Amino acid sequence: MASEQTVSPGSPRSRRVSHRLGAIAESATLKVDAKAKALKAEGRPVIGFGAGEPDFPTPDYIVEAAVEACRQPANHRYTPAGGLPELKKAIAEKTRRDSGLEVDPSQVLVTNGGKQAIYAAFAAMLDPGDEVIVPAPYWTSYPEAIQLAGGVPVEVLADETQEYKVTVDQLEAARTDRTKVLLFVSPSNPTGAVYSSDEIRAIGRWVEDNQLWVLTDEIYEHLVYDDADTGSMPVLCPYLQDNCVVVNGVAKTYAMTGWRVGWMIGPPDLVKAATNLQSHATSNVANVSQRAALAAVSGDLAAVAEMKKAFDRRRHTIVAMLNEIDGVVCPMPGGAFYAYPSVKGLLGKEYDGRLIDSSADLAEYILEKAEVAAVPGEAFGSPGYLRLSYALGDDDLVEGVTRLQKLFS
Ligand code: PMP
Repeated sequence: MASEQTVSPGSPRSRRVSHRLGAIAESATLKVDAKAKALKAEGRPVIGFGAGEPDFPTPDYIVEAAVEACRQPANHRYTPAGGLPELKKAIAEKTRRDSGLEVDPSQVLVTNGGKQAIYAAFAAMLDPGDEVIVPAPYWTSYPEAIQLAGGVPVEVLADETQEYKVTVDQLEAARTDRTKVLLFVSPSNPTGAVYSSDEIRAIGRWVEDNQLWVLTDEIYEHLVYDDADTGSMPVLCPYLQDNCVVVNGVAKTYAMTGWRVGWMIGPPDLVKAATNLQSHATSNVANVSQRAALAAVSGDLAAVAEMKKAFDRRRHTIVAMLNEIDGVVCPMPGGAFYAYPSVKGLLGKEYDGRLIDSSADLAEYILEKAEVAAVPGEAFGSPGYLRLSYALGDDDLVEGVTRLQKLFS
């Protein structure tokens, strides 16, 4: 409905969206995925390397637990804001089993995915102007979550010449009097980089020496290939435990992206503050989803072992095929399910009479011409790269990269 009224400058109505939210961009990864899905729905044979989403269904025993939970009226009600007590206990037990970190259930907050855990953790940790060091290429939501919480992201770039891993010297060069938190993720999205135990110990020591906090995102903990020697920062650096937040969730490990269950683990005062926020913002995660997550984390790791086998196979295929394209350089990722090739060698040239000058242009061009969706490095603070998720079926993967090979042959 068009309004007849004119809005005078400076009136409350002339300020429409707040500065805080006006500064936030749409998630680039979700945008690419939505575009690919929309084209697919129109009948176009798009192959999507965009979303960080396993192609497997959620394992049956988890789905069955959810179906059963739906039938129980008790699960049609709110749960405590911080999560079902039995789920918090199971998450504490799972954490001891998988990473070796000992935590009390009171140190767990169950959130709507790892994404909300990251937002809640930053909201609980940051005052306006506090700086957070963010290794780049970074997952697209980190800087936005930091800024929403009033903080300032400070990027530290590590490119393929250093296996996409930051060094202590780089971190030290970025540190100021306002630095409060280091964001750390291994295996990494978007690069798949996995830090070794020694590298983690060195970074943890630097965090401690500078009396900083660390938020460590462990959502890909089970997707580490080749038996790499790695671990959880608060386990390798136990002195950090009172100043460390661990983020995790069921999305990637159990193919449960749509169920929206994640969690943060941290010192009791911080978790209490984040739980208070949640009690006003969302009350609690959907009860049935929490029951499904309970079945997931209480069960064994057989399903993720199967998925990992498939991802490992696809990892070798995609890296080999991408490296066959002149102008593309793709290091072998050590974890997660992303390939992050440099495409700098393809840029600055004309294709079909059109100048492709950036990885953002390139991503658009390949979606149009080859019907292949990938996310440009611009979304991760590092232009000149593409992120291709290899969590899609083997045949689609080969077909998609073959289309790219033909396009650039
Ligand atoms: N952290 C990282 C590094 C991720 O890649 C993702 C998902 N793309 C998340 C957290 C959040 O996952 P979810 O909210 O689906 O649990």
